Amino acid sequence: MAIDFTLTAQQRELQLAARKFAREVLTSAGAAELLATPEERFLATRPIYEAMVGAGYLRKCIPAPAGGENTGLVDMAILAEEFYSINPSVTLTMLGTVLGLLPILFGGSPEQCGRLLAPFLMKHGTPLAAFCFSEPGGSANADSPPPGDGVRTTARLAGDDWVINGRKKWTSSATGWNRRGADILSVVCRTDPNATPDRAISIIAVEGPSSGIVFERAINSIGHRAHLVPQFSLQNVVAPRSNLLGHEGGGLALTATAFTATAALVGILGVALMRAAFEFALHFARTEKRGGVHPIIQHQAVGYALADAKTAIEAARYLSWRACHALDTQSPAAEELAVQAKIYGSETAVRVITDLLRVVGIESYDHDAPLGRLLQDALALPIFDGGNMGIRRRQLHAIFMRPDYDHLAASGAAA
Ligand SMILES: Cc1cc2nc3c(=O)[nH]c(=O)nc-3n(C[C@H](O)[C@H](O)[C@H](O)COP(=O)(O)OP(=O)(O)OC[C@H]3O[C@@H](n4cnc5c(N)ncnc54)[C@H](O)[C@@H]3O)c2cc1C
Repeated sequence: MAIDFTLTAQQRELQLAARKFAREVLTSAGAAELLATPEERFLATRPIYEAMVGAGYLRKCIPAPAGGENTGLVDMAILAEEFYSINPSVTLTMLGTVLGLLPILFGGSPEQCGRLLAPFLMKHGTPLAAFCFSEPGGSANADSPPPGDGVRTTARLAGDDWVINGRKKWTSSATGWNRRGADILSVVCRTDPNATPDRAISIIAVEGPSSGIVFERAINSIGHRAHLVPQFSLQNVVAPRSNLLGHEGGGLALTATAFTATAALVGILGVALMRAAFEFALHFARTEKRGGVHPIIQHQAVGYALADAKTAIEAARYLSWRACHALDTQSPAAEELAVQAKIYGSETAVRVITDLLRVVGIESYDHDAPLGRLLQDALALPIFDGGNMGIRRRQLHAIFMRPDYDHLAASGAAA
């Protein structure tokens, strides 16, 4: 058995190029976060997003067999860590677009992939895609049978078209740059009002802009201040019958597949924020005496707190990389590891950044210092991409109850 987390030469090249690009280009996106309204902030990131697309980074997130340049989730993790540690908002705009494309990548026919993915493979423009799952009133129980509401958005066939009605909320970039819709919206909706949830829900690709997409508001979110999370309604939005992704009624399964891949990456998003916080706190501790004789790192309490933080960062990174690798190699333990990476990476990020605020002390409470902003961004991680309480722990719970569950499989030591 080989345990080796050494990056390949290509991965190391990707890491260094992404780090350089992030420092040179993404740093300037920070200014957008100071603008007054959520929409102003989001719109101000457009040139940065365009530069990311132009430099080929969106293509690097789309799998090679579908025409892109991505060779796996480990590569995604490397790229995401570099970008997210510099600017979470605009990085989430790119990752949200990839999430919006996942139902096409996982469930689309070759014809759908060719047609719908084309704008996202170009090295120009600012194409956006959105995964429209969450709804006002909650989404943790999307699979609920009646009398629970489950998924409330509906689609019915009228001739050769789907007609979609409902409301969505918190869906990254879904109303696009002009309030009228992203280029692709993968809409989770009820296509059979009478079937059980495992057969009633489907995902339909809506090609924006559409006059039936009615913007209600841009949420003034606690973190990711320059990322768009809108609330909107779909009012008789029309999509061709041929835009149903996967099979009719397979929407919940397709959603679960997409959110397993993203879970492993959320672990890395936690690592990225912790890494940025640690870099600041370490520098502060090595250079600041705070009126005393020695830099504060020489106080054992400070040194030990930094030791705990760094240990947690390494643990979260390797769990997340392991989960990405398990998904890339289709290991039977992939789902378990991905959910664990999501829960551990997200909750550890909130804890570690809070601990580092204590290390730096009062100077961390200034908006000009990065720790407050990093904590604001980190607060999203346990509650988005499937909340850790309402969705992710339940997933692990369900895995543990499977009759054939082998708890040693995650370490490759199945009975
Ligand atoms: C920056 C950002 C970007 C986002 N991007 C997207 C996106 O692109 N697409 C998208 O669809 N959504 C997106 N979301 C929304 C988000 O991912 C989901 O709505 C969210 O993860 C679900 O929230 P929840 O688990 O709290 O569910 P809710 O349904 O709101 O549940 C609330 C709480 O109720 C409790 N609960 C509910 N049901 C149960 C249960 N059965 N068992 C135990 N506890 C329960 C839990 O404590 C849970 O936290 C985004 C959110 C943010 C902040």
